[in-house]
Amino acid sequence: MIRFAKPDYGEEEMAAVAEAVRSGWTTSGPRAAALEEEFQSYSGCHHAVAVNSCTAGMHVALTALGIGPGDEVITSPLTFCATVNTISQVGATPVLADVGEDLNISAASIRDCVTAKTKAILPVHMAGLPCDMPEIWAIAREHRLKVVEDAAHAAGAKIGSTHVGAGQSDAVAFSFYATKNVSAGEGGMVTTPDEELARKMRCLALHGISRDAWTRRDDRRPWFYEVVDGGFKYNLSDILAALGSVQLKKLDVANVRRRHIAKQYTKAFCEVPGLTPAPTGADEISHAWHLYILRVDPRIVGCTRDDFIFEMRERGVECSVHFIPIPLHPYYRDMQLRGTWTNALAAFEQIVSLPLYPGLCDSEVRHVVEAVKDIAAVRA
Ligand SMILES: *Cc1c(COP(=O)(O)O)cnc(C)c1O
Repeated sequence: MIRFAKPDYGEEEMAAVAEAVRSGWTTSGPRAAALEEEFQSYSGCHHAVAVNSCTAGMHVALTALGIGPGDEVITSPLTFCATVNTISQVGATPVLADVGEDLNISAASIRDCVTAKTKAILPVHMAGLPCDMPEIWAIAREHRLKVVEDAAHAAGAKIGSTHVGAGQSDAVAFSFYATKNVSAGEGGMVTTPDEELARKMRCLALHGISRDAWTRRDDRRPWFYEVVDGGFKYNLSDILAALGSVQLKKLDVANVRRRHIAKQYTKAFCEVPGLTPAPTGADEISHAWHLYILRVDPRIVGCTRDDFIFEMRERGVECSVHFIPIPLHPYYRDMQLRGTWTNALAAFEQIVSLPLYPGLCDSEVRHVVEAVKDIAAVRA
């Protein structure tokens, strides 16, 4: 069976973890601090705060920006629940815009959703394809809105020569979850151009305590700290940071391999009736290729998306779906969120995520291609 996702760990990761454990300092310390610096110099962002998940990053960003009850935050209906949960958790109201053909939130639908209560836009770079940020920043400037990006899929992605995370948004949250492009088991990073916001987020990520244990360790009074805010427990362990550092070093090479595989998929599927290859974005876009989302038109291919995934499994290939639209989940259905999601709901009937990771070898890629073509040909 070709697994849907598999992290790319080698001896270097094992050694880094062992070294962190042997050092005796396993909570946030020198390795988490080093990862922040590495992320900063890799992406060109101004400030990077290590956190224990992308979810945590979005939560501290929205909190530090003062977004709360009575405020509306516009985001995508086609995302992981974490994006929308963090909006609810700060007490704000999620408003779901619609996606375009590229499965990213569309600028036009954001404009349709803006009201006097709108405080922020939370775009999601679906599959690692950057959203139309220049347009989103223009809307934000026009209506004085904050922008927090969900860049869980977008480590290494660029718009022109600017890395996602180093642009004009107030904050950008990345994920180091097991299956993501930088995989540390769990973990995340939140970047910002604003020094004061970085300080606030750092403080909120550690109980609202003014200085962490590593920074205090050689003080005259290392036991002394002050709680200056109502914070959370979101700091990144040094064991995971050690793993993250090695993965970050490999990121560009890994993303080249991802792109290579994506190109092979697209080449194989672009002329098959009923199949639409994953969107690649405009020329100036560097896609992070976290996911390869194939669209299967049931009317032409002759089977539903669910049957297609079942047939792939029968042929030894595990696939997935990204994502079940937020308004279809019972919790959010009951909330009766504002918005119309015609494109997201239509896309949901067709989307199949194929295996895509650096460790997928050429023969496995061929196997995936053959399985897809086999199913599409048999039914056509
Ligand atoms: C994985 C994911 C997240 C959550 O990342 P964590 O690091 O697990 O919190 C958020 N948004 C999207 C789109 C994701 O795929």
